[in-house]
Amino acid sequence: MRHIQDKRDGAWNVQPLSGVGATKTYVCPGCGLEIGVGVAHTVTWRADGIMGEVNDLAARRHWHLHCWKLKS
Ligand SMILES: [Zn+2]
Repeated sequence: MRHIQDKRDGAWNVQPLSGVGATKTYVCPGCGLEIGVGVAHTVTWRADGIMGEVNDLAARRHWHLHCWKLKS
């Protein structure tokens, strides 16, 4: 489930979210398009602690699965 991935800009917490758990729409920062209700996607927040965990969690972003995979 939740794990940490290294990207070029640092370490990220990655939490996969099932379609059942996706009850709101979000805008994906990768492509700028909407993630619809019921679409499985991934939630990410920084894991390198620069801003502190509470701030990191508050700044979490929702990504399409493929957009997150493509992120460098
Ligand atoms: Zn996307």
